[in-house]
Amino acid sequence: AALYRIDSWGAPYFAVNDSGNIVVRPYGLSTLAHQEIDLLKVVKKVSDLKSAGGLGLQFPLIVRFPDVLKNRLESLQSAFELAIQAQCYESHYQGVYPVKCNQDRFVVEDIVKFGSPFRFGLEAGSKPELLLAMNCLCKGNPEALLVCNGFKDAEYISLALLARKLALNTVIVLEQVEEVKLVIDISKKLSVRPVIGLRAKLRMKHSRHFGSTSGEKGKFGLTTNQILRVVKELDGSGMLDCLQLLHFHIGSQIPSTALLQDGVGEAAQIYSELVRLGANMKVIDIGGGLGIDYDGSKSGNSDLSVSYGLEEYASAVVNAIRVVCDRKSIKYPIICSESGRAIVSHHSILIFEAMGAAAPTTPAMNQLNIPFIMEGLSEDVVADYWNLRDAAMRHDNETCIFYAAQLKQRCVEQFKEGTLGIEQLGAVDGLFDLLTKMIGGSESARTYLVNLSIFTSILDFWSIGQIFPIVPIHRLDERPAVKGVLSDLTCDSDGKIDKFIGGETSLPLHELDGCSGGGVNGRYHLGMFLGGAYQEALGGVHNLFGGPSVVTVLQSDGPQSFAVTRAMPGSSCGDVLRAMQHEPKLMFNTLKHRAEEFCGFDAAALSDSVARSFHNMPYLEPASSCSLTAMNGSGS
Ligand code: PLP
Repeated sequence: AALYRIDSWGAPYFAVNDSGNIVVRPYGLSTLAHQEIDLLKVVKKVSDLKSAGGLGLQFPLIVRFPDVLKNRLESLQSAFELAIQAQCYESHYQGVYPVKCNQDRFVVEDIVKFGSPFRFGLEAGSKPELLLAMNCLCKGNPEALLVCNGFKDAEYISLALLARKLALNTVIVLEQVEEVKLVIDISKKLSVRPVIGLRAKLRMKHSRHFGSTSGEKGKFGLTTNQILRVVKELDGSGMLDCLQLLHFHIGSQIPSTALLQDGVGEAAQIYSELVRLGANMKVIDIGGGLGIDYDGSKSGNSDLSVSYGLEEYASAVVNAIRVVCDRKSIKYPIICSESGRAIVSHHSILIFEAMGAAAPTTPAMNQLNIPFIMEGLSEDVVADYWNLRDAAMRHDNETCIFYAAQLKQRCVEQFKEGTLGIEQLGAVDGLFDLLTKMIGGSESARTYLVNLSIFTSILDFWSIGQIFPIVPIHRLDERPAVKGVLSDLTCDSDGKIDKFIGGETSLPLHELDGCSGGGVNGRYHLGMFLGGAYQEALGGVHNLFGGPSVVTVLQSDGPQSFAVTRAMPGSSCGDVLRAMQHEPKLMFNTLKHRAEEFCGFDAAALSDSVARSFHNMPYLEPASSCSLTAMNGSGS
């Protein structure tokens, strides 16, 4: 567990049991020993064939734990309640969940249900998000807020006003100055008194990746002058009392409470000025940004970590607002936050399997035929070789690498010119690989082929370099013997994971030794943790790999301590083809007729086989798990 820093990023939800398997503690610190859920047992239940009592689902697989979701929500609520009490803040906290973080129906429904006792609401940023938020909140607390953010047209605004007619506590947050006219006109037309918020563009800047939209030049929100125009416009229409909420969003993954306090303090000043100008202010909505400590360092030094916990975050927010309100002698506002990442990241785990491992094809020193390699090479290449050897004797790795790279480059050029044969070029490659391995460079890592598409399931790794903790979910009582990088199934050189938490360029992994591996049917299972936010909605269908299977797991008092309450197979080949406008039914008929035309006797069997392929998921199905061995025959 220490090797993977599980205690640092995983506590209080993830730990390792005596069998060396990852366990999930759905209630965090208050989980009792018998309530721990062994993840490998879940994977077995879900992936075993139906004939063996399993659910027969294919990998990759998302395992959701609604109890973790509930614990996150309640922990956030308690953190604010604690800060409010400690600072004698005379109002309350009432958060909303930004559905963009994970729009899955069951995730959103669970959040509404779990948050209902404390009026937890939803935030939408587009028309379909608003439709789903309206629908889910019909079963929620009537006081729960429905915050409508994002750029809006007349249809979006009409829908939000309709939501108010449906007795949902809807706030239309003005994102652009032009929206105010639309809200005034449409609300008059529909005879609805709107509740309006405005999004302020703060001057403070969060300088990390997720802060690129903050600051005066940021993409979203109203400038000071635009805020004044909105106030004037509303006042002129007799609707200044409708302006009740101030929203801002510093950016996701706010690294420190110092930056947070700076932003919240600035916003609280704007809030107090709106009060002075006559608006009927009630709520300050501090947006998202509550961060996750992905690498467990608690340093706040990079996008991967934050230097605070829920309590420190809540305390900093309450303090920054209270100080301004005290100074201006105004009533404390309700504090709303739109924390997404912090609520949903922990609740789901992406499980995938390693299908094989390829070691770098490195010959042993005695296999290298040096005289052959040197044969017919130009003088400069020969000089490179001798310099390389001298450097190797001196253990001067840097010089060694320099000459090796130069030698290789010159040989490649000679090959392209036609003066070097392919066998000799292969031998030079071998020499280069051996050297790199001896020096311990990253190329000595073994490549594990994983049954996954990074572009579908971990898009942020490819698009913004976001790193998630990845850990084998079993065999953690066994010292990993190998360092590996992960290569996915796509035909894309970017489809690999070679960066891991802690700045590592490889991951400690176990040998793939078939049936003795301890995994389900001898397979080797890895889990990607803390990926419950954003990844599911962002992923695409590159190479037509579609969404993973999804199961929901609840703690139960039965002998297994868990129950699978919902199971959905992932997208089939037919599903992903349909997403690109192909019509699987017609495609099948075409292939069936072709089989009848060309295959006579075998046509029916061939058609059945094609039908199965449309029905199955696009990922690999290991023929016999026990035969999982090394690729190229050299990796185990
Ligand atoms: N609110 C707004 C307006 C956002 O743009 C975002 C995401 O960037 C969020 C809330 C959620 O942020 P986070 O996931 O950091 O909590």
